[in-house]
Amino acid sequence: MKFGETFNEYLKGEQEKFLLQCSHVDYKRLKKVLKKCKVCHAAGEAAGADGGRFSNLKLADDTCQCKSCELCDDNFFTELEKETMEIVRCFRRKTRQLIYQHCSSGLQGYLRSMQSCFKSNKPVSVQEGMMLTDYITANAIAIRKLLKKYDKIHGSVNGKNFNMKMRAEHIELLHSPWLIELGAFYLNFPVSEIGESGEFFKQFSCDLSSSQPTITLVLSDDVKLEYGLTCAVCLDTVFHPYALGCGHLFCKACAVQSASLQVFDPMKMASRRSKCPLCREAGVYRNAVSMLELDLLLKTKCHGYWDERKSAENVEMNKQLRQYYDSQKLAFFYGATW
Ligand SMILES: [Zn+2]
Ligand SMILES: [Zn+2]
Ligand SMILES: [Zn+2]
Repeated sequence: MKFGETFNEYLKGEQEKFLLQCSHVDYKRLKKVLKKCKVCHAAGEAAGADGGRFSNLKLADDTCQCKSCELCDDNFFTELEKETMEIVRCFRRKTRQLIYQHCSSGLQGYLRSMQSCFKSNKPVSVQEGMMLTDYITANAIAIRKLLKKYDKIHGSVNGKNFNMKMRAEHIELLHSPWLIELGAFYLNFPVSEIGESGEFFKQFSCDLSSSQPTITLVLSDDVKLEYGLTCAVCLDTVFHPYALGCGHLFCKACAVQSASLQVFDPMKMASRRSKCPLCREAGVYRNAVSMLELDLLLKTKCHGYWDERKSAENVEMNKQLRQYYDSQKLAFFYGATW
């Protein structure tokens, strides 16, 4: 089946109730815009004299250097950007809800409370996680296909550039830290409870024992996404991980100390000028995401390592607290108890 048909079938599916108020890429309409443009271009070329309308477009086989296509850009990129931002917003809201619900009561407690809600042997939350993964991957594939089509028709790299722009603005769907959280969410469930994967993705897996630990999302036989779990500051597996606004993952302690804060300070205390230690983007601490599922996954699967880091962090935290109180001239009162 062609992607357009699969996507169309998907839109009619039963996930609609859960994803109520979540918009999707208007694949059909945007495809039509491109189709119309293709016809216009062909007509323009055939006519030869186009009154300068196509004069800034080079339709030869080599890559077009023109900045835009006056026939379809307004209808295409503006619309696509608006839709993408809506999807990102909805995905973030729904995933955050699911994960907070899951982590707040602890895995065991949650599973127990959900026992009465089992549907086809799968906890409801797993089904919701699957719907969210399908939602984000289906729309991401739709966007990729549309951008490729755009470039093919116009012989340009504008579609590719648009994708890079989305990445720079941190709205590229498959680079959302919430998708890593969803991956960890899955991996926190026993395999027997996961069952088959969704329609648009094949599986999540993780390799936590390698020197470059990763979570992998397989979309199809030839598309595989790898999310690195190494902290660029301590060069070890992230501990109490946070994703900064730019999407880079760090240990909480490494991130706050890079922002000249104390280990015990909350992320939000970082100044607006504080930069990501890796990409140097400023203002990325305010909207940092605490990766609760990933932390739970590492705690369960790398128990020894996690405990070691926890003890080391406690020692460091006590040291910094002591220094802090010393500097506040409160050492006399607290010295006896620390
Ligand atoms: Zn066009
Ligand atoms: Zn670190
Ligand atoms: Zn960064």
